[in-house]
Amino acid sequence: MVEIPRGFVFHRPGVWEPRTLIVSGTEPRIETASMSCPGCGCPAELADHAIDAVGRVTPSVVCPKACGFHALVTLVGWSDR
Ligand SMILES: [Zn+2]
Repeated sequence: MVEIPRGFVFHRPGVWEPRTLIVSGTEPRIETASMSCPGCGCPAELADHAIDAVGRVTPSVVCPKACGFHALVTLVGWSDR
C-alpha cells in the first residue's frame, strides 16, 4: 500500500488531485481523482477505478507509461476534499 498525498499533479510525482467528471446519462457527476505516478511523474486518471470513503483505490494502479510502478494506493485526505 502506497499513501499518496494531495498536491498538484503537474508539479511533482506521487500526488493526487480531485476531478469531477460531468457525463450524460443516469450518473451525471463522477467524483474521481488524477494522480501523478510516484515513479515517473506521468499523470494517471483514476476514473476507471473505485475510490472508497477513506481514499483506498481499487484495483491497484499501474503506471500508464509502464515505468514499473504498480501498487495499491490510498489517497490521503480524500475524505476532506
Ligand atoms: Zn510511471
